[in-house]
Amino acid sequence: MFLKERKEPVELLILRSLNNRMNLTANEQQQYSNIKKGYEGEVHFDSVITRLSSNILILNDLLLESNHSIFQIDSLLITQDLIIPCEIKNHEGNYYYQNENFYACTTNREITNPLHQLNRIETLLTHFLHKHGFKLPIKGYLHFIHPEFFLYQAPKNEKVIFYPQLNHFLKNIDRQLANLTKRHDQLANLLLDAHIKKSPISTRLPSYQYDNLKKGIHCNVCHSFQMTILNRKIICEQCGNLENTHAAVLRSVEELKLLFPNMKITVATIFDWCQFIVAKKVISKVLNKNYKISGFGQWAYYE
Ligand SMILES: [Zn+2]
Repeated sequence: MFLKERKEPVELLILRSLNNRMNLTANEQQQYSNIKKGYEGEVHFDSVITRLSSNILILNDLLLESNHSIFQIDSLLITQDLIIPCEIKNHEGNYYYQNENFYACTTNREITNPLHQLNRIETLLTHFLHKHGFKLPIKGYLHFIHPEFFLYQAPKNEKVIFYPQLNHFLKNIDRQLANLTKRHDQLANLLLDAHIKKSPISTRLPSYQYDNLKKGIHCNVCHSFQMTILNRKIICEQCGNLENTHAAVLRSVEELKLLFPNMKITVATIFDWCQFIVAKKVISKVLNKNYKISGFGQWAYYE
């Protein structure tokens, strides 16, 4: 049972928006593609894990603090007798393992050692749970979820699960006893309560300014800015997708707030942001319906 769903990370949302509205450098493109790929791997893992028939608790994407250190768990499984933090990697292609490190075959570039990441998670999680009086054993796993990932000289380490081993991993969990009690619920609730909602952005984002970004409403399917309004609908001239104009304006407001959390949202700012394609009257309606108004008259803004 999923107790905490996965959401797209803020970094990914921002980079996707910037990629659409400005020219990213090759490095920034790579950063965007890595974060996107990582997230896709996690979503893939979620879809596989739904095959579990036993009634375990699953908490996705937890951000916790222990011992003054912040750590993130891609997926946490709570079974009757075990807590299983899973680190998910979506690398694709050929890699090799040498002197306890991982390297890409094509570039010989070392990647951050995911086994070290997993050890860190286990240590910090153990400390966190002991502090709160939970003594259930913890056993973490590193999942290489991409079907086309291959690791030469792979270590014989039962904590590393490659794609062909995933089914076996699930069967093993299903074989274990799954009589969850109130104590397990308490454990899950403790983790949910401790989850840090506003995650600090861990990667350096490209620098951007309002004036340098492309304005307009883009299609929510193909991201084209060539849009036409017709009878309360906004139509993409590229792919033909239809969206309710109110929904498209709301999406644009949220995107602006994401990129510029400190910007005051007014009818005029949204009118400019949407590149004058939607009437001020419609924007005002959307803002009034979805946000709280502060101030009066020409000084009014929405929060
Ligand atoms: Zn489109």
